[in-house]
Amino acid sequence: MAEAAPKLHFYTAHDIDTLPQLRKLDADRRLAMKAVSSVLPFRVNQYVVEQLIDWDKVPDDPVFQLTFPQPGMLREDDFNTMLGLVSDGDQGAIKAAAERIQRSLNPHPSGQMDLNVPFDTDGNRLPGMQHKYRETVVFFPLAGQTCHSYCQYCFRWAQFVGLQDLKFAAREADQLVEYLKRHKEVTSVLFTGGDPMVMGAPVLHRYIEPLLTPELSHIQSIRIGTKSVAYWPYRFTSDADADDVLRLYEKVEKSGRTLAVMAHYGHPRELGTDAAREALKRIRESGAEVRCQAPLIRHINDDWETWRKLWDLEIRLGAHPYYMFVERDTGARNYFEVPLERAFDTFTRAYRNITGLGRTVRGPVMSCMPGKVLVDDVAERGGEKVFVLKMIQGRNPEWVNRTFLAKFDPKATWFDQLEPAGELWFFSEELQLMIETGNCRPWPGGD
Ligand SMILES: *Cc1c(COP(=O)(O)O)cnc(C)c1O
Ligand code: SF4
Repeated sequence: MAEAAPKLHFYTAHDIDTLPQLRKLDADRRLAMKAVSSVLPFRVNQYVVEQLIDWDKVPDDPVFQLTFPQPGMLREDDFNTMLGLVSDGDQGAIKAAAERIQRSLNPHPSGQMDLNVPFDTDGNRLPGMQHKYRETVVFFPLAGQTCHSYCQYCFRWAQFVGLQDLKFAAREADQLVEYLKRHKEVTSVLFTGGDPMVMGAPVLHRYIEPLLTPELSHIQSIRIGTKSVAYWPYRFTSDADADDVLRLYEKVEKSGRTLAVMAHYGHPRELGTDAAREALKRIRESGAEVRCQAPLIRHINDDWETWRKLWDLEIRLGAHPYYMFVERDTGARNYFEVPLERAFDTFTRAYRNITGLGRTVRGPVMSCMPGKVLVDDVAERGGEKVFVLKMIQGRNPEWVNRTFLAKFDPKATWFDQLEPAGELWFFSEELQLMIETGNCRPWPGGD
């Protein structure tokens, strides 16, 4: 590498008064940031501070909004409480009030964790795994449950503030391998976090290599969901074990499977630096493919031209747009959420203005209890305005690619706020039964 290797350094709430870039903000705003960061997680590294944020545009700058706590993120009364306590500086009182507010912010949205966890042959729950859709098992490696910076809208925020313990994560891959041997219907394993790419190459190796055995020849693809391509691209260029990581990717490819980096890019800025482009280039040279996904977030990427630019840039750099998500119903959602109608409009305008190469993207998508639900249209049926919704992933594979209708609601921002228009949704009774009985893998070999 021509570039000297930067060493990862984090800034946290303790640095709000001393970080030189923040001095241009007034003292009130810094105090507000401290108040918010006593409730919601805040941690940012020097690459994001120095290369991604445009400090001339702060506080409106999208990457600043993405990573730094903002006054509007808490409800007004909660915000005033924390503001008072943070000025007083009583740590015990701050902690107690912060925990109370955290618990009011729907820290565990959808309650899916439980339903999705599979069992071993003795009926014991297998921590660190989710098996919601027939073809794909999601795996949470214990060491990958943190990130190179925190997104302020993250639906995993509860684990970063210590509200959720990490018992749901897996220390080793052996149970995963055992499970996959028994489940030939699974063709894809998705590593997620946090960000699995915070793990060192030897640890990644320990998790991934056991999947490459001939006994698991039914596994076609290994995916790694990561934001490190945006927050710490040096992971793939100049970190001491960057080459080892890429060799591991190559090894997956050589085993006859594909390694897909599921890259979380939410703003074109994240693809603009030399380091980011070099990282993408090196990942692609390893033979891995790159697919891109991000949620639509107010204050960050809430306009169609930003998405068009993002998708155009991804296509230019050989990465494939995959999902535009709807922001989940947790944490600072009042600050970040976008109504479904606007989300559909934003998606549609951007989608109409890119080449077919980018129309691999699907959205806006809600990952919710029954499956992945896409807002496919805002239309009229029988004189009534409706959302046309489409199930693109379902707990029952038979649900996939079927449409259903919800009453139009201009304020709706999430699936739970929607009601059937006309007849009951085709999956509702079956889903209710799954929830009541816990039998939610209704395919041959599912348990
Ligand atoms: C999104 C998701 C997957 C992957 O679904 P694809 O349609 O293959 O992208 C798997 N499991 C869970 C729980 C998911 O949310
Ligand atoms: S990188 Fe992903 S897991 Fe980490 S804070 Fe951002 S959204 Fe959350």
